[in-house]
Amino acid sequence: MQDVTNQEARAPAVVRIVGVKIPVDDRRVGIALQDIPGIGPKEAKGILTAVGILDASLVSELTYQEVLQIREVVDRDHVPAAQGDGLVDRLMVALQDYHDGWGSTGLLEDAVHDALGHGLIVRRGAGRPSNAEHYAPLCFEMWRRTGDPTALVLAARYLLNVAARRGLLQVAGKEEQAQAKCSVCGDEYRGYSNNAWPMNDGTCCDDCNEAAVIPARVRSIMEHARADA
Ligand SMILES: [Zn+2]
Repeated sequence: MQDVTNQEARAPAVVRIVGVKIPVDDRRVGIALQDIPGIGPKEAKGILTAVGILDASLVSELTYQEVLQIREVVDRDHVPAAQGDGLVDRLMVALQDYHDGWGSTGLLEDAVHDALGHGLIVRRGAGRPSNAEHYAPLCFEMWRRTGDPTALVLAARYLLNVAARRGLLQVAGKEEQAQAKCSVCGDEYRGYSNNAWPMNDGTCCDDCNEAAVIPARVRSIMEHARADA
């Protein structure tokens, strides 16, 4: 597993635990965990003990390793089995963590690798692949060759795009579900938003993403890779 430091690294503003955004501030961890539905003072104390975090610890002092351990305990003890972590959920969380400034590309790479290797997301040989299905492995290959984290992030986004179209996206936050206006075609759409870079700085619908944004982005990565060679 490569462990390239998050090149957009900055102090994380939130930590997501089972989809709940907990602000990274100077609250005690045991208090902040009670933002999660179903977790009260007793459950929060149990989590701290299981992970080995002191009662006085603040959210702003958490390491990413501790965040991962907390999630493991919450997943194991406090989340109904039906919500268990599938490949798609893991990928979504890894991408959100990366954008939030947590951790490294290593975990994102593992999540993309596992999602790609699993026929559930990218089917091979069953009809013509969509653009997103086609570009997800291509971008991952580009990341492997160039170490450009943009390519890794793109691979993750294309996989999520494919998953969304197949109704496999379980952990989409409210902001991804809200109705939005596409910055490329101007249509209203609902569902997972796509970053419209390099077309513009906004977000776009799935159709524009596949038809215009992804091809433009892949061209841009190819040129970048050539320039670096
Ligand atoms: Zn559009």
